[in-house]
Amino acid sequence: MRLVYSPHYDIRFFGLERLHPFDSRKYSRAWKLLRGWFGSRLRGVTMAPTRPIRREELLAVHTAAYLDRLRQSKYVAGALELPPVRYLPHRVLDWCILRPMRWATMGTIVAAAEAMEHGLAVNLSGGYHHAKPDGGEGFCIYSDIGLAIDRLRRDGRLQEDDRVAYIDLDAHQGNGVCHVFRTDNRVFIFDMYNREIYPGYDGEARDRIDCNLPLAANCHETDYLRTLKSRLPGFLDSLVGSGKVGLGIFNAGTDVYQGDPLGGLNLSAAGVLERDLFVIEQLRSREIPTVMLPSGGYTRMSYRLIAASVGRLLELSLFQQDFCKDWPCQGSNLL
Ligand SMILES: [Zn+2]
Repeated sequence: MRLVYSPHYDIRFFGLERLHPFDSRKYSRAWKLLRGWFGSRLRGVTMAPTRPIRREELLAVHTAAYLDRLRQSKYVAGALELPPVRYLPHRVLDWCILRPMRWATMGTIVAAAEAMEHGLAVNLSGGYHHAKPDGGEGFCIYSDIGLAIDRLRRDGRLQEDDRVAYIDLDAHQGNGVCHVFRTDNRVFIFDMYNREIYPGYDGEARDRIDCNLPLAANCHETDYLRTLKSRLPGFLDSLVGSGKVGLGIFNAGTDVYQGDPLGGLNLSAAGVLERDLFVIEQLRSREIPTVMLPSGGYTRMSYRLIAASVGRLLELSLFQQDFCKDWPCQGSNLL
């Protein structure tokens, strides 16, 4: 397993982050928890992107007209759902918000390459599943998922006919990913989401989902996990049984956590951990190289939930039984 993280991921914009429920420093907070638990044992399994993604690379998925529109503060404010930032000069907005997202996008590309080599990789940011080729929305600007798949194909790490299993369990429907892969039938989309919240009914996006599981708001954790466990294995079996699956992407939004102001679902911390471990186990037991992305999550618990899942995966993949006795997640203190 590999962990991808950069201190450049955090978003800082002069206190304006308080205008959005998003914890814009959850990436470094999750990282600090993991570093506290694992210490020097993270050395050798952690890597950082060396630069943010460049405009010419973004053009692999995004239109030039859209990238030009990102120079307008008013447009970016709408995509970020932060109306007051429309008054910030573009350069400030770009430096404080969009640049960290370009670092995270490069992180997802690095993590995807690492997953191909080591089986499992987690980027501690990214999962911008609402970003479309020609538009940004829902706090998502760049389609890191689309760009990572494109890069793997260009590099030859993914063969032309290789399939991709995309598992989206963020509370919101991943409409951007559906639009990015609207005509690409090599990407198979499993999407379980709260049907009563943003982005609302996007017919074109929903028609593109291969396994569409809209849930009622506040559905019980037991029903959530039962639905996941009854549907994901069959979805993956049908893919593996009819062709090579070269990559799995798990968009693991923690906005399914109870009390999330945007997610409207009801999972406990233990439920989020169970969900994440189940999905990774399902992908890895079928020998599908897997990338995990944190995506959305708007409570102060979000970074702890991310760290708990990633920490458990690190323990399972790297330290086996030896480290269990020191593992702080075993008890209920963290969760
Ligand atoms: Zn979400």
